[in-house]
Amino acid sequence: MGVIELEEEDIVAVYCNSATAGFLGTDVERISGQTWRDLGVPQTIRALWVKHYRQSQAENRSVRFDYQDLRVKGPCWLSASVSFLGYGPSGRPRFSFIAEDVTERKRNEELLRQSNEDLRLANADLEQFAYSASHDLKEPLRQVAIYSQLIEKKYAGNLGGKASTYLAYCVEGAHRMELLVSDLLAYCQAAKKSDSPLESVSIDEVVETVKKNLATIIEESGAEILTSGLPVVRGNSVPLVHLFQNLVSNALKYRSDRKPVVKITATEEPGYWSFAVEDNGIGIAKEFQAQIFGIFKRLHDRTEYPGTGIGLAICQKIVERQGGRIWVESEPGRGSTFFFTLPRLINERWKSAIITDRGQSG
Ligand code: ADP
Repeated sequence: MGVIELEEEDIVAVYCNSATAGFLGTDVERISGQTWRDLGVPQTIRALWVKHYRQSQAENRSVRFDYQDLRVKGPCWLSASVSFLGYGPSGRPRFSFIAEDVTERKRNEELLRQSNEDLRLANADLEQFAYSASHDLKEPLRQVAIYSQLIEKKYAGNLGGKASTYLAYCVEGAHRMELLVSDLLAYCQAAKKSDSPLESVSIDEVVETVKKNLATIIEESGAEILTSGLPVVRGNSVPLVHLFQNLVSNALKYRSDRKPVVKITATEEPGYWSFAVEDNGIGIAKEFQAQIFGIFKRLHDRTEYPGTGIGLAICQKIVERQGGRIWVESEPGRGSTFFFTLPRLINERWKSAIITDRGQSG
């Protein structure tokens, strides 16, 4: 730390402690009156300090900055803070400064940044691999499915012993694998960063689309889908439809003996929307509530409830891609509520304009 005065584009030392004097290659007794140019401080570094001294004077406040200094003990990072004090006896602006060696902190930050980047690249590689593998698996799988079906159709009568049972297993296995692969592809798609620009998406309209897509099961089960207070958000409609559709179709699939009632609501929180998809279905025991979001994680046999165990993993990916989180609260026998958050990026004035337009039109 120390005190300096500014003279044109140079810095004149008034006082400094022994650490700073040592850093500048001199000692406390001899420093007063020496300029940083005399002390061999490179022009680029002098200019950086002068710029911040001037800013502190102009704005009459302390100014903080980090910079890399290559002198004395090799590259080191310093965090500096400068404050305008007034004017010295000679009329030159006077400042105090504090500089702290933050090399260790910067090194750790850099290591953290680097390992985050490595992790991001490894994840991207893995996602790309899963995408290519599942994409390339589709075609040979289709062949296995088609030809085993053909054998079943054409030669069923000629197959002796247990051959037709085994063949039926082949057909069923190939179909199941096709389903898994297409779900895996959907998962990879959800994990990928979308190229589409963000748009305003009305969640009411998203739910209407979901209701149309699930019309058959809604009708068959006599389900009631209720909504209230759904907002317009900024995002992409395709993944949002996917998200709501997975949750609503699960609510109907895992229904109890009661008439299914699904309530979709949203609450405005500071900075985000909190959505809830509530059902009155079979519920989920506490110990399983965290694991159901894992890929291929299921709590039931597929003869009991069909599925691949990827739906909620897709929901989680979609929500996390948007910077939100998803969780479930449930009680077996009473029902489940899936909650998720989405950042509230929408401009308030714009939102009310959309609502007014809707009101006018109908
Ligand atoms: P899938 O439905 O294909 O099994 P999901 O990933 O959508 O895959 O769901 C994972 C598991 O979570 C399901 O197998 C089921 O046991 C449980 N689950 C999901 N949604 C509900 C729900 N609304 N009610 C009860 N259980 C559910």
